Amino acid sequence: MTNIEEYKKRLKNNYKVAMQVIKDVFGEEKVGELMCGAILLQVNSTAVGRAGICKRYRGKGYCTIEVSEVLFQLSDDEIINTLIHEILHTFKDTDGHKGKWKIYADEISKNTKYKITRLADSSNIVIDYRYQITCKSCGLIKNNHRLSKKKINQYKDKKIECPKCKYNEFTIKDLKKDIMILE
Ligand SMILES: [Zn+2]
Ligand SMILES: [Zn+2]
Repeated sequence: MTNIEEYKKRLKNNYKVAMQVIKDVFGEEKVGELMCGAILLQVNSTAVGRAGICKRYRGKGYCTIEVSEVLFQLSDDEIINTLIHEILHTFKDTDGHKGKWKIYADEISKNTKYKITRLADSSNIVIDYRYQITCKSCGLIKNNHRLSKKKINQYKDKKIECPKCKYNEFTIKDLKKDIMILE
């Protein structure tokens, strides 16, 4: 699978979770009334300054949510966070990050494990992790800015356990050089 296909699959699955969270908090009926008729999901490979953006077109029956490719360096929970943030922008009675949007975001933050901040689409977010460590068993992703040679060797020698599933084999990718350090 190419990266982009993988991203789209993750995006689709995370979108399902995000929608379920929103429906659980506000109820299916209210969500149906407020939300954009249809949402198109897109992955943007060039926008690195922001995690996501939502575009709402007046008079058209759909909205688009575009997420940056860099978002996929983060955990599923963080992707879901961004998606909830953007889906709330599709609610008809919201405008920007104040008023109703803020009330909805706070409601989600209060009642679920997702903490919705207004930062997701601000232009000063820069995700610049260098190393991505992925558990070969459960897929848990960890991002590091730095990774010492000693630590890399510990991963290679299988001396480090996954905090989630306790497995000891990982892949490590150097995102800056776009190469695999450990496969
Ligand atoms: Zn926003
Ligand atoms: Zn694991």
